[in-house]
Amino acid sequence: MSASEVPLADRLASIDDRIATAARQAGRPAEDITRIAVTKFHPAALVDDLYGLGVRDVGENRVQEVLEKVAEVGDLQDLRWHFVGQLQTNKARAVRRVVSVIHSLDRAKLADALDVEGEAPLDVLIQVNLTDDPGRGGVAPENLSALAEHAAGCAGLRVRGVMAVAPLDEEPAAAFERLAGHAQTVRRVFPDATWISAGMTGDFEAAVHAGATHLRIGTAITGPRPVRG
Ligand SMILES: *Cc1c(COP(=O)(O)O)cnc(C)c1O
Repeated sequence: MSASEVPLADRLASIDDRIATAARQAGRPAEDITRIAVTKFHPAALVDDLYGLGVRDVGENRVQEVLEKVAEVGDLQDLRWHFVGQLQTNKARAVRRVVSVIHSLDRAKLADALDVEGEAPLDVLIQVNLTDDPGRGGVAPENLSALAEHAAGCAGLRVRGVMAVAPLDEEPAAAFERLAGHAQTVRRVFPDATWISAGMTGDFEAAVHAGATHLRIGTAITGPRPVRG
């Protein structure tokens, strides 16, 4: 059987086993770790299937796709949508309305666009760029403090911590160690911002060892993504 032929329930269980093992090895309670199933490019029906298996946190990275999928899936009790992709300011409010957490706050203008008064504050993570390539998304570490300070002035936002994607050309463990330092920078402004969103299919165990509280796992759970234009 190829990986994509293994039933969804088995893939999910095997990932949860690996998370539990990594947590034990790191001396951390597995309950401190939220596993987000990244369902991008897959049909809404997959979210229903995952929900039936007990998944309550799903992740998407494209605006149009998350808006369509949320509408299609409809109200499922306790299901939380996490937005993990780059976000344009003119789409910010639409996404804010349908998701529980935005992992990709990376600039002051986006903070302002997401800062809607008169509604419950939105949980956000500040995305930090761990590479030297500005195109990879996330705020550069040297601008992190200033962005956190700016977000502190946005009553409609609740900054919970940091998010990052490991660079392609570096050991993820080393990159995630840096991220733990960036998390401390944010905690100087928001003492209770304890979340660290890091770790994907290829590196989630390293992320657990480095203190990640939120893992964003796609293909290892869902199987290969369908090609989509
Ligand atoms: C697609 C995606 C993931 C999941 O990636 P996999 O390698 O399939 O686990 C995680 N984080 C972000 C930001 C993504 O875009």
